[in-house]
Amino acid sequence: MMGNGGNRCCICGKPLTKIASIERGMGDVCAARYALFNPKPKNKNEGFAPQSDYVYYIIEIKGEKVGVVIDKDISGFMSVTNNIDNVCSEIGVKSVIYRDSEGVWDFWSEQMGFKSLALHGTPTTNLDTAIEVAKARYFSEVGGLFS
Ligand SMILES: [Zn+2]
Repeated sequence: MMGNGGNRCCICGKPLTKIASIERGMGDVCAARYALFNPKPKNKNEGFAPQSDYVYYIIEIKGEKVGVVIDKDISGFMSVTNNIDNVCSEIGVKSVIYRDSEGVWDFWSEQMGFKSLALHGTPTTNLDTAIEVAKARYFSEVGGLFS
């Protein structure tokens, strides 16, 4: 389904070994977390605005709503990267942490544009790390990895 980059979990990026996990594209722990994700909302401009297909949920960082978005990478749909402002308006946020088609978590905000969540030059494939890097780097919220 959302398999990408070999047999790796599409949320945390860890290698998958169990057949059921490989088929699902994510490990058991992340599968439970995946229940937090919502399907893309119906677009009021259906047929007008470019369409992306993704799942998402909303977190709050320093009182601001931030979308956590996984691009489903379905052919015929526009990538979340290339449609980022529509995606943000669909889910009602001004910044997102999103997983691109390479399996890498990136950041975008209306104010700052596209920003990296790489850590010491290594692309971030783990969602928890991505959230911590975004908090520290773009919201000046120190904690976890950075405290
Ligand atoms: Zn995982």
